[in-house]
Amino acid sequence: MQGLMMNRHLLVSDLLEHAAAQHGQQSIISRSVEGPIVRHTYAQIAQRSRQLAQALLALGAGPGDRIGTLAWNTHRHFEAYYAISGIGAITHTINPRLFPEQLRYIINHADDRILLVDLSFIPLLRQLLPQLPGVEHIILMTDYEQQSLQAPDWLCYETLLAEQSPNFSWPRFSDEQASALCYTSGTTGNPKGVLYSHYSTLLHAMAACRADALGITPESCVLPVVPMFHVCAWGVPYAAAMMGSRLILPGAALDGASLTELIQQEQADLLLGVPTVWMGLLRHLHENHIRLQHVKRVVVGGSAAPLSMIREFDENHSAFVVHAWGMTELSPLGTVNLPTPEIMRLPPLERYQHQLKQGRPVFGIELAIFDDKNHRLAHDGKTFGHLRVRGPWVAERYFRHEDLSAFEHGWFDTGDIATLDEAGYMQIVDRAKDVIKSGGEWISSIDLENAAMSYSGLREACVIGIPHPRWDERPLLLVVPGHEDLDLAALRDHLAAHVARWWLPDSIVVVAELPHTATGKLSKLQLRNQYHDYYLKPEQNRP
Ligand code: AMP
Repeated sequence: MQGLMMNRHLLVSDLLEHAAAQHGQQSIISRSVEGPIVRHTYAQIAQRSRQLAQALLALGAGPGDRIGTLAWNTHRHFEAYYAISGIGAITHTINPRLFPEQLRYIINHADDRILLVDLSFIPLLRQLLPQLPGVEHIILMTDYEQQSLQAPDWLCYETLLAEQSPNFSWPRFSDEQASALCYTSGTTGNPKGVLYSHYSTLLHAMAACRADALGITPESCVLPVVPMFHVCAWGVPYAAAMMGSRLILPGAALDGASLTELIQQEQADLLLGVPTVWMGLLRHLHENHIRLQHVKRVVVGGSAAPLSMIREFDENHSAFVVHAWGMTELSPLGTVNLPTPEIMRLPPLERYQHQLKQGRPVFGIELAIFDDKNHRLAHDGKTFGHLRVRGPWVAERYFRHEDLSAFEHGWFDTGDIATLDEAGYMQIVDRAKDVIKSGGEWISSIDLENAAMSYSGLREACVIGIPHPRWDERPLLLVVPGHEDLDLAALRDHLAAHVARWWLPDSIVVVAELPHTATGKLSKLQLRNQYHDYYLKPEQNRP
């Protein structure tokens, strides 16, 4: 048909060249794995990416090849994102926190031909290498001095770059081609790969920037603490380039003190990360009587943001918590909680309650809840069911995987149980696997954890359902105390004031720390195994 628009496909490399051309002098600040904070402009980073692209081609990389990264959030990892996808190869970001068997499985399943590795992961990779037959080259992401000292048998990132010309024309190809690959850190079975395309990545970046989503602009100063090895740091490396935002990359130092230094010194105004990271930051700020100066918004996702966190950021740091929900299968953005003007006018405590919801879907994503018989459920804020999603940046299947059970009827079944209210706000009740079934009724472990965390003496709380001789399952609360003299009776009274009587955990166990998965979520499967027999034993025999 005549008169249609140009059929020019947008590619990941276009984002970088746009940033270099339109925001060339804007900074990317990075805490290097070697230690010092280093500064580059988008123009310099684009040049270095072009050099890396040519180095990868010279090593034999080609379209469709998977190239793995084992790396922190640094400028070199950012360059690798663009260089790999830019030549039509696939950036496979690997989560180094996974168990060695999972890492071996992932690298072999993806068939990674080249690996780019940070200094921190040399021992890990040396341990894995004998069982990685497909890996042809390893590039150590450092300079010649460090590489020759620490791994002289591997290639040196900076040497490879120095050998290449700053000029390079990125190849053009269909935006349906794959650009990146990320494996979910499934708690059961082998991790499953999700393959993103150039099309889905660019569309997702546009969605992420929008005012009704993360609100990233050319004036933003963005600090993604969420790792670039976990769902592409929620798309921030692409969104920041699209907007030409100032970007701060925290490297390997994710403790409260290092983050505070970076946030204050570099004047970050938009932070993104999972709740465990913010707990460490808030603890450091509290203990050292520090108030954040420039932060306007903190995006919290990956696990439920507790009310105490929303309140502390708001009242002590004038920083607004934007609760967001997503998944590896969703690139990851699904919903964002930006309150309506009416909600913003509510008294703070009521507003915080509303901020506990995971938010409304961003344009492009559709949500619905279903019962076990595949019937759609009401959007009344109370009825809960299996949350399904569809949209152009939602996976339609897993990479090299036959099981399509999560992708039936044109929807992706998230494995989450949720409510949707009349205004469209979604709230996660639980993971389908974690919800507690007590005497035929459901208890939300997340609601119980939120109630526990609103008690001031706790550092962390986790609720699991474990077998019970009378009720099938009953909740068990595990807590990490925030100080030495935690009053368990007062905690019980506090819970009784916040949840229905039959929801109250039958026991509370005090622990020194709680296990987390590779993506910072509470490791409930491990705890369920550990405490499996707890209620089956007579009370006097419990640990
Ligand atoms: P992942 O693919 O590792 O990012 O994990 C996705 C899962 O994390 C989701 O299915 C949810 O169960 C959980 N999740 C993500 N964001 C949130 C949130 N804001 N609140 C509660 N759970 C969340």
